[in-house]
Amino acid sequence: MSTHPALSIVAPVYNEEGNIEELHRRVSAVMDRSGETWELIMVNDGSVDRSPEKMRAIAEEDARVRVLNFARNFGHQNAVTAGMDYARGEAVVLIDADLQDPPEVILDLVAKWRKGFHVVYAVRAERKGESWFKKLTAKVFYRMIYRIAEIDIPLDTGDFRLMDRQVVNALKTMREHNRFIRGMTSWVGFRQTGVEYVRHERHSGETKYPLRKMLRFALDAITGFSYFPLQVAIYASLILGLIAVLAVPVVAFLRLSGSTLQFEGQATTLVVVLLMSSFQLFFFFIMGQYVARIYDEVRQRPLYIVSEVWGQGTADDSDESAG
Ligand code: UDP
Ligand code: MG
Repeated sequence: MSTHPALSIVAPVYNEEGNIEELHRRVSAVMDRSGETWELIMVNDGSVDRSPEKMRAIAEEDARVRVLNFARNFGHQNAVTAGMDYARGEAVVLIDADLQDPPEVILDLVAKWRKGFHVVYAVRAERKGESWFKKLTAKVFYRMIYRIAEIDIPLDTGDFRLMDRQVVNALKTMREHNRFIRGMTSWVGFRQTGVEYVRHERHSGETKYPLRKMLRFALDAITGFSYFPLQVAIYASLILGLIAVLAVPVVAFLRLSGSTLQFEGQATTLVVVLLMSSFQLFFFFIMGQYVARIYDEVRQRPLYIVSEVWGQGTADDSDESAG
């Protein structure tokens, strides 16, 4: 397949052995119905189950399927990035491999693209089969990032989206290491729109995003798109300064008037000192978050390492360099 397909479907895969065949089956059915030419790129992000074998078997049989096999787990956002780097389509669709994003929605995305939109993101009108905790944290997170980010990131959208070649090429120039792709897609601009869909339950398996990864991802989003946390320190500083200034006459008055309500005792001092240290360490932490990310950028490591590419038509015109 050396001619370029109209659409590249990109799916990141981390231990999804129970979903691979169904993903391939449903994507094929939908795309064949669309009348568009297409390819499916599955990125194996260091799975330790039977996902790699399953993907490889499909790629060897179906010439429209290619598999990028990572040298280890580099994370969801890097897997998606690799898929975009290798995609040859006139548009790229990012979709989760667990079938929470129904492949059938791709048809709606394509329809809007054909009407002239460069980015069509899928908005979660409803989320099925996810814990109340996940739903609540996601809801709070999307609203917070919407408020503090310097760009408008649409509410309740994940990475499930279609992007025109122009947008993909723009994203390919953005090699930042702590990636929040949905924010980066908003950042590039172009004509963007959304379509609503119902997010389903996982077809098989468990979420690959434990709380630890979710927090890390949230911090990437915040630090990548906002300086607000760095600026909070000035408000804390002003408020505490004001309290200190007001405290002087109050304490003096209490002393002079012989009031029994006096600030004596080491306990009070101890509590105040601990509270202040806590504030200061908190702002150290925030600064540390930005500094660590600066360090990530300075080292200029690749975003991922591909150890093998499986499937036909792999070694012709795509950009084979590691990220
Ligand atoms: N994923 C990945 N690398 C990881 C974690 C997840 O490629 O380190 C993939 C995963 O296989 C799935 C997608 O990213 O296709 C979304 O992950 P998941 O469904 O676990 O996230 P959730 O939908 O629970 O937020
Ligand atoms: Mg999922």
